[in-house]
Amino acid sequence: MKYFDGHNDVLLKLHLKKNINPIDEFYNGNNFCQIDYPKIIQSKFVGGFFAIFVPDSDPDDDFFNRMNQKEYDFPLPSPISTEFALDSTMSMVDILKKIEKNSKNKIEICTSGNQLHKCMMDNKIGVILHIEGAECIDENFKNLDKLYNLGLRSIGLVWSRNNIFASGVPFSFPSSPDRGDGLTELGKQLVKICDDKNILIDLSHINLKGFYDVAKYSSKPLIATHSNAHFITNHSRNLTDEQLKIIKLSNGIVGINFATAFLRNDGKMLEECALTNITDHIEHLMKFLGEDNIAIGSDFDGAVVPKEIKNLAGMINLENHLYELGYNKELVEKIFYKNWLNFLKLNLI
Ligand code: ZN
Repeated sequence: MKYFDGHNDVLLKLHLKKNINPIDEFYNGNNFCQIDYPKIIQSKFVGGFFAIFVPDSDPDDDFFNRMNQKEYDFPLPSPISTEFALDSTMSMVDILKKIEKNSKNKIEICTSGNQLHKCMMDNKIGVILHIEGAECIDENFKNLDKLYNLGLRSIGLVWSRNNIFASGVPFSFPSSPDRGDGLTELGKQLVKICDDKNILIDLSHINLKGFYDVAKYSSKPLIATHSNAHFITNHSRNLTDEQLKIIKLSNGIVGINFATAFLRNDGKMLEECALTNITDHIEHLMKFLGEDNIAIGSDFDGAVVPKEIKNLAGMINLENHLYELGYNKELVEKIFYKNWLNFLKLNLI
């Protein structure tokens, strides 16, 4: 089955790994990334949002382990400077550009849904360049123009740390996503500019007030590239039923996230996580979104995923699981790639 993915962090993984050639590791395959070229070929991956996330200068290696407690409520990570964020962002853009250049015409950065569709027809991998957290954008939006010219077409306003545009939700369980303030004035301006320039705005990880502000100030369908149902997993970073209703009203889309902390009922980031945890979320999201507005945003290379999936090559196990539950091929195709493709053809112009 073809597969289009709403979110991965492979550029971050390649950027952080020391003493390697990221392009060689990507093309030869490796054991530290959940996405690489051999796994792409094995899985019939047709493309996805490739995120650029700027890590702290001193990344917390214990972050996932600390989520394995009964309850947790991490403070928001400290804000970072625009210069620091731009510097890291540009080095990940550079990795992506080199991956594209060395792809023998098999991987293409796409700036529209139609280009993505053509890539799929031509058996190429279509990449949407996405930033997870808008810290690299300055208050005069000059860096936005620069990144737009490099192919940026999707922005998650916040990851978790606050920035000059919006506030993120902390990693907290159990918790509501209603934490902190909504968009700043600059955030409202950024939403308007993104709408005008046809840059997608991703609402995964924004807090509840920020979500409502984007719903109010953006004229476009609402997108959460990688978020799950708060009703099933009471995690601050999942979407409430009210949010799902608003996304559906806008004819937006939600990608299911495989990060086990957002899937498991106890909020722990452990690879022990049944495929039924994923389908429980799919079922709940479909109650609100129907069959045409649900997709996948795996979070590969950015999270611990269920061991039965493990990496991109394991998507076949989820596909088979859906058939075992009685899903027909038409619905699996929608969830795996058709809904994203149709959405992007309509909304990434
Ligand atoms: Zn994320």
